[in-house]
Amino acid sequence: MYIMRKIMVTSAKPANYIYHLLESALVKLDPLWKRLGYQRSEKTIAFFEKNIKAFLFDCKMCGDCVLDKTGMSCPMNCPKQIRNGPCGGVRDNGNCEVKPEMRCVWIEAWRGAKKLTPDSRITPDLEILAPVNHRHKDRSSWFIKIREITDTSGDRNV
Ligand code: SF4
Repeated sequence: MYIMRKIMVTSAKPANYIYHLLESALVKLDPLWKRLGYQRSEKTIAFFEKNIKAFLFDCKMCGDCVLDKTGMSCPMNCPKQIRNGPCGGVRDNGNCEVKPEMRCVWIEAWRGAKKLTPDSRITPDLEILAPVNHRHKDRSSWFIKIREITDTSGDRNV
């Protein structure tokens, strides 16, 4: 929902805090996910993730979430889906060149990032974000994160 998206950027600091709290709670529940079976657990987690994040961030379930690095503005709402922006096409009023009625996702990202860290340059040390991993499309990024943290087998193909 567009209005919620803007509210989340305005409230980037508490939103980011709650987001990480939820993420670490899900990680702590790993024994439960293991017991239920990871496949079944991912479906359950993905169901909640999809509904919560679609409402708050217009999440597209890319499976490769970077909200905490983009001021809580989802980069998948950029029509070009660029992960390091903005592009050169931002209009004078700060809106998108492809969707003139929409504020540039990356102008919003910079606005949110400043709320997270006042001298923010989006991510610490101007980290360049990797392109989205399309193999994770429609998967739960929360679940993938859980498995990355808890999987000690060294298998990165969670
Ligand atoms: S970055 Fe991906 S997982 Fe995160 S809100 Fe956007 S579409 Fe959803």
